[in-house]
Amino acid sequence: MTMMKTWLTGLSATALLVLSACSDESAQSNESTAQAQDAKVEAQAQDSNKEIVVYTSRKEHLVKPFFEQFTSETGIEINYITDSEAALISRLKAEGERTPADVFITVDAGNLWLATQEGVLQPIESDALEASIPESLQDPENHWFGLTVRARTIVYSTERVNPEELTTYEALGDKQWKGRLCLRTSKKVYNQSLVAMLIARYGEEKTQQIVENWVANLASDPFSNDTKVMNAITAGVCDVGIVNTYYFGRLQKENSAIPLALYWPGQSAEGYGVHVNVSGAGITKHSDNKENALRLIEWLASEEAQQMFAGLNMEYPANENVEPTEEVAAWGQFKADSTNLSKAGELQPAAVKLMDRAGYK
Ligand code: FE
Repeated sequence: MTMMKTWLTGLSATALLVLSACSDESAQSNESTAQAQDAKVEAQAQDSNKEIVVYTSRKEHLVKPFFEQFTSETGIEINYITDSEAALISRLKAEGERTPADVFITVDAGNLWLATQEGVLQPIESDALEASIPESLQDPENHWFGLTVRARTIVYSTERVNPEELTTYEALGDKQWKGRLCLRTSKKVYNQSLVAMLIARYGEEKTQQIVENWVANLASDPFSNDTKVMNAITAGVCDVGIVNTYYFGRLQKENSAIPLALYWPGQSAEGYGVHVNVSGAGITKHSDNKENALRLIEWLASEEAQQMFAGLNMEYPANENVEPTEEVAAWGQFKADSTNLSKAGELQPAAVKLMDRAGYK
């Protein structure tokens, strides 16, 4: 910005100099040339300052501070609307080339995959993003990049469960957990992605068996959200569940003595690790402001913004050079599943059908 302004001032000064050194006639033509040039430079400056429009399904308080910080650093304004991912994707489709949107930000690789599938995103070429975001957290065709990481892991009652009894997601279907398991509804994309990743690993037949075993162990009908799963465990309805880490973090913040703890499954040498997912961003197919859109996404992946993300929602930074917050780090380190997250989207339709067949409501 500063450089651009200095350059602009410099150019006007040159134009003035030229003017004063010329005769009247040539001065006039020189003047109009200089004016045209000025206008062109100004238009370019305006273009590089052009407002970015973001469509996002993230809660306003999780995006607004980032947009404000970006604007204060770059002078580029950001206009945004928030809505459900499904509504935003259909809006992008309906608007087509006329869309004002430049950037799409949402949670879950399943949703990002769907947006890609629906043709509303375009591939991004960026050395900065390739360098800061691990391979497994970005679309192989670069339609989207993960920005924050959430682990979907096992939560257990510290009063009734010895963590040594726990091993893997699959093992929650073992007989010892009969009547002791609580799950969130299969309608939630988080569980669709989790099951899709199981299909990627084990195939449909074995995964269906795993899900049927879970269903057989349920202590109650599935819950509408992760917090209710944890409340059911503290209330004694069940002893174990599967939740996203930041929901656990929120409960822990409200009550540090809550009798719950996280368990990281699949950590043995052969284990494939914890299922992680992302919130992420892509550039819309018909953005007329690609440069600034990319600038924003690259900034969101930068260490500065990643540090902010870590603090705001108790998620893990996608940029591995940035540490999670102290409270998050206190949950312990874990090995994460390194299967590319695009599988979560690709196999989502199969996962939905499979859960239905297995009686997982
Ligand atoms: Fe969530």
